[in-house]
Amino acid sequence: MTSLLRHLLSGGFLVVGVALAVGSPDLRDSLTALVPAYPYAVLAGGTLLAWRFGRGRLGLSLLALLLAERGLARWAPPHAFGDPTAATVFGAVTVLLPLDLAAIAWLPDRGVLARPARIALALIAFQVALVALLCQPLFVPFTGWLQPAWPHRPLGGLPLAGLAAFAVALVTVATRVVRYRTALESGALWALVAALLATAPGHGGVGASMHLATAGLVLVLSLIETWHRMAYLDDLTGLPARRALNEALEALSGRYGLAMLDIDHFKTFNDRYGHAAGDQLLRMVATRVGEVGGNGRAYRYGGEEFAIVFPGRSVTEVVGYVESLRRRIEATPFTLRASDRPRERPEPVPSPGPRPRARITVSIGVAGADGDTARPDDVLRAADAALYRAKSSGRNRVRV
Ligand code: GH3
Ligand code: MG
Ligand code: MG
Repeated sequence: MTSLLRHLLSGGFLVVGVALAVGSPDLRDSLTALVPAYPYAVLAGGTLLAWRFGRGRLGLSLLALLLAERGLARWAPPHAFGDPTAATVFGAVTVLLPLDLAAIAWLPDRGVLARPARIALALIAFQVALVALLCQPLFVPFTGWLQPAWPHRPLGGLPLAGLAAFAVALVTVATRVVRYRTALESGALWALVAALLATAPGHGGVGASMHLATAGLVLVLSLIETWHRMAYLDDLTGLPARRALNEALEALSGRYGLAMLDIDHFKTFNDRYGHAAGDQLLRMVATRVGEVGGNGRAYRYGGEEFAIVFPGRSVTEVVGYVESLRRRIEATPFTLRASDRPRERPEPVPSPGPRPRARITVSIGVAGADGDTARPDDVLRAADAALYRAKSSGRNRVRV
């Protein structure tokens, strides 16, 4: 739940902040000066990232946003209200942009010129041609469905089809946010909200341009947030990784305790049950280590080793917490999931007997500092040496 909120907050601040700025009469003139530089800057910077790091989704979303922004700024500015071309372009943007953004969120994130992205690019080009065609005098009789639903009512400047498109897109993307809980999905949701804010007044203009460019910026930032997670979080266990530990160590001072934990005979476990089961076990142990208590912050140090930092705790206190952690792990039998069953259904079908259960133990070394005489690096080395003693004196124990 908190990870979901964290993702949602960062994009939300930006979108709401820009909405407040757009609504403020004092900022109106200075915002006008930002258009079209701001949309272009976001597109240029974002496209460079997308191309350089093979992020097709970002590239396509930015293209859709810029086309919408330029289209509204050029053909549907506030003073063109009532003009048939303005109404058609505006109506088409409200239908196509949300659907495009939602559809792009479903694409596999491959390179900007990979096959899915190429098809999407062709579809976007087709949409541009379609809108251009609908703007021709000959087709005006067919654009009734792009007219405002309830002019002069909140959101009534959008055609019914546009309102429906936004509803479908918002529900689809929100479902993905809850399901996958990633920064990219949250970014896609806020981009849609910004697109809705952009079109809410019923015409283009400075506000629309600001919101659409912000939608692009939110997408770029969500990618940067994703990269930050990749650098600092361990993919397998979800615990913070070595890099995060190094930074936490630098910030330590005064009294603190460190524990190093290593799974006993993990190589044998891997050999017996397979690497996939070993990964499952690592996740299970990581969850337990993460719940150590005593404000201990757990990190995956590497392989099957974990480090726990206890700010403000003495060595004696830390020993208490990790000793009960060691006992909890020892007492939890690890049930192997059915992923090890054979692919082919064997004949005769075996009775579903008890699944194999493995007993797991860990060894832990503890060291600490009280005052600023020892460097955290040295304390960590001392904890590692204590771990070595725990191993050599028979494993499944805590040593200081
Ligand atoms: P000890 O009790 O002395 O710690 O013995 P051990 O077998 O646990 O220690 P050793 O260092 O010999 O083996 C560690 C093993 O951990 C070897 C490696 O295959 C396994 N391992 C490291 N990282 C991973 C991982 O991410 N997934 C899986 N499944 N295995 C891993
Ligand atoms: Mg080990
Ligand atoms: Mg080891």
